[in-house]
Amino acid sequence: MTGSFLRLGAFALGLLGLRGVELAAPHHPPTAPLRARWLINLGFGAANGIIVSLACASCYALSAHNEFAAHLGLLRRLDLNIWTRIPLEVVLLDLVTYLLHRAYHVVPLLWRLHVVHHSDLDLDVSSASRFHTGEVLASSILKIGVVVVVGISPQGFVIFEAVMLACAQFQHANIRIPGRLESGLWRILVPPAMHRIHHTPTREDTNSNYGTILTVWDWLLGTLRRHPPDPTPSFGVESLRDSQSLGVARLLMLPFTLPPDSVRESIRD
Ligand SMILES: [Zn+2]
Repeated sequence: MTGSFLRLGAFALGLLGLRGVELAAPHHPPTAPLRARWLINLGFGAANGIIVSLACASCYALSAHNEFAAHLGLLRRLDLNIWTRIPLEVVLLDLVTYLLHRAYHVVPLLWRLHVVHHSDLDLDVSSASRFHTGEVLASSILKIGVVVVVGISPQGFVIFEAVMLACAQFQHANIRIPGRLESGLWRILVPPAMHRIHHTPTREDTNSNYGTILTVWDWLLGTLRRHPPDPTPSFGVESLRDSQSLGVARLLMLPFTLPPDSVRESIRD
């Protein structure tokens, strides 16, 4: 329960703090009506928050009382001290998140869930909350599996979740970052400029820049894409450009109603 309140507090702090920066130093003018988007995005965030809280509680309990991991979990067998183990667990879970994100762009069934996130016609801090509940559920089940098999510690898992949440909000934020600082970020942490490319409707761009915390996975695994900054970007999915038709009910049904042509147009070869 404490973990859920901490997560909610961190979420609210990130949302309000980054919204303040978005108002003071926006990267681009709005590309879609803000009020309607925020209602939808934060509505998804509230519903998904319940699932994430339950998943976090399950992961925490499983990692704290994990007999399997105690004997067979790779990280437990290495017997590392806390200062080595926790960073290693965070990096490992970030790699899992990268691979999972890539799978959402390759497997047609998974793209049908993930397309709800990509259907946002603008990109700001609220976009970090816009995920179909089915995607949140599928990702949570996979993470529980990793926690059990690899032997992630309760502390490592909680710290990873907090860092991932903060990085997700940051990379979606519509904020202007000084050029040299942003160039430095490209080498280490995913900056908004890198994730904006991932949200443009072009197929090659959408199927690149999958990282959440570290940029190293995109560098190493050949999925990094970098363009000069675009002051008037466009976001979304080519076949879902009408903001009037992107209400909550349509988005919830999208995994079942998305035409096969649209799936083929978007996913990675
Ligand atoms: Zn994506």
